[in-house]
Amino acid sequence: MSMDDFRLLIDLHQQGQRQGPGAEAETERALQLARIDRTAPLRIADIGCGTGASTLVLARLLNARITAVDFLQDFLEVLKDRAERAGLAEKIAPLACSMDNLPFADKELDVIWSEGAIYNIGFEKGVADWRRFLKTGGLLVASEITWLSDSRPRELEQHWQHEYPEIDVASAKIRVLEKHGYVPLGYFVLPQYCWLDQYYRPLQARFADFLQRNGHSEEARAIVAAEQDEIDLYERYRDYISYGVYIAQKTA
Ligand code: SAM
Repeated sequence: MSMDDFRLLIDLHQQGQRQGPGAEAETERALQLARIDRTAPLRIADIGCGTGASTLVLARLLNARITAVDFLQDFLEVLKDRAERAGLAEKIAPLACSMDNLPFADKELDVIWSEGAIYNIGFEKGVADWRRFLKTGGLLVASEITWLSDSRPRELEQHWQHEYPEIDVASAKIRVLEKHGYVPLGYFVLPQYCWLDQYYRPLQARFADFLQRNGHSEEARAIVAAEQDEIDLYERYRDYISYGVYIAQKTA
């Protein structure tokens, strides 16, 4: 991808409440499954936080200091604004950093949270590499693209094998957690409204302004077309694929 394309993608996505499928209610559902104590002082990292969809929920509901990590400063600037407007800024420390080079100390964190982002380094690598930052008994909550059944239409399979060969069924993802020293505490599937109402429809609603801002350039039109293709694919095959939300605890 060229730098221009990258700038355009940031431009399209930074005005979004979120940059991937999810919803506040599902972040809360994961918190409940994880049985996180809402009064205890916690150290949390939200990795690949984007403009803060999950960070703001965690800050609102928990007694936590949250390091909000993303490698895009533009997204973190939006997150800072949102945190200030919500009166939550003092609970959140934005950190521009790559998720494969995190600065945390061993056993520093009570919780690692990551919605729709761990795929950037691969689920298994993230699960394995981030483990050392968690205290013993600490929690990992991560959403990951997941097949909902054992077989699926070939077009969908081919698309995702190309985009993300690590895509798999939930039982395989849970096995990865076990292999790397976690006890799986819970798993649920993000419902379709998390894709359509919470992510794709607001994204589509920004297409016209985005094209206008960028002079209807060929590159901007190509980005909109690629996003629309992804949406169409999801709408055709939404019974076969979603994000799974995985909640796991670090064992001794
Ligand atoms: N968690 C947010 C949400 O659910 O709205 C954002 C999800 S978005 C699909 C993935 C995020 O990961 C983006 O904000 C992107 O900038 C970030 N990201 C991608 N690669 C990264 C990396 N290597 N290190 C840190 N952040 C990364």
